[in-house]
Amino acid sequence: MVVKTADEITIMHEANQIVAETLSRITRSVDVGITTWELDMIAEECCTQKKVRPAFKGYRGFPASLCVSINEQVVHGIPSKKCKLKKGDIISIDFGVEHRGYFGDSAITLPVGKVDATKRKLLEVTRRSLELAIEKVQIGNRISDISEAIQSYVENKGLAIVRQFVGHGIGTALHEGPEIPNFVQSESSPRIVEGLVLAIEPMVNAGSYKVKVLKDGWTVITADKKPSAHFEHSVAATADGPLVLSSRENFE
Ligand code: MG
Ligand code: MG
Repeated sequence: MVVKTADEITIMHEANQIVAETLSRITRSVDVGITTWELDMIAEECCTQKKVRPAFKGYRGFPASLCVSINEQVVHGIPSKKCKLKKGDIISIDFGVEHRGYFGDSAITLPVGKVDATKRKLLEVTRRSLELAIEKVQIGNRISDISEAIQSYVENKGLAIVRQFVGHGIGTALHEGPEIPNFVQSESSPRIVEGLVLAIEPMVNAGSYKVKVLKDGWTVITADKKPSAHFEHSVAATADGPLVLSSRENFE
């Protein structure tokens, strides 16, 4: 667990604001008929303009700048010229950059046109669970307070938490300690201290929590093929409470 100085958090804020601006631009382009490859090109353009490195490209061999995960895909979907968005899809877009040696990481799930009631509820509950989790980023709380906030809200709504993938600390590495499970584990978890920066990322399934990985070695899908949603923010623990570094409010 690495804590950051105020200067480091300033750089991480810059990195995450580039992520936020990019996700906002992509959000405006998400529509019926666009390919996920074209969305990836928008992310690449933003990286070139802002002189940052896309964090996922080349990460353990991942081939693109964005992770795009449609409907039953949970996370780590690969952009493709063959994959056109259709009315009624939901698409999770996960993006990260490296800027001046520090990382930003954030994700959003969007509807493509009008989506059915199951998907609407899934998006709303997942988005809200992240908000509730962020409120728990208070000095003196434990990481498990974040986990508990997500799990209790999501499960009370009759939806399931993915267990195989978790949130993480973030800084000079894309993934640092501590792990942030979206469900409560039996072991006691670390306290939140000032300067900790956390990438909190609930992944929520409409059916079972179980997932599997496709033959491409990356794309994670739900075992029952029911839809899944994913939201993520990078959040700093400060004396004044949570600071959402990847907030998109300046770009919406
Ligand atoms: Mg991410
Ligand atoms: Mg992440």
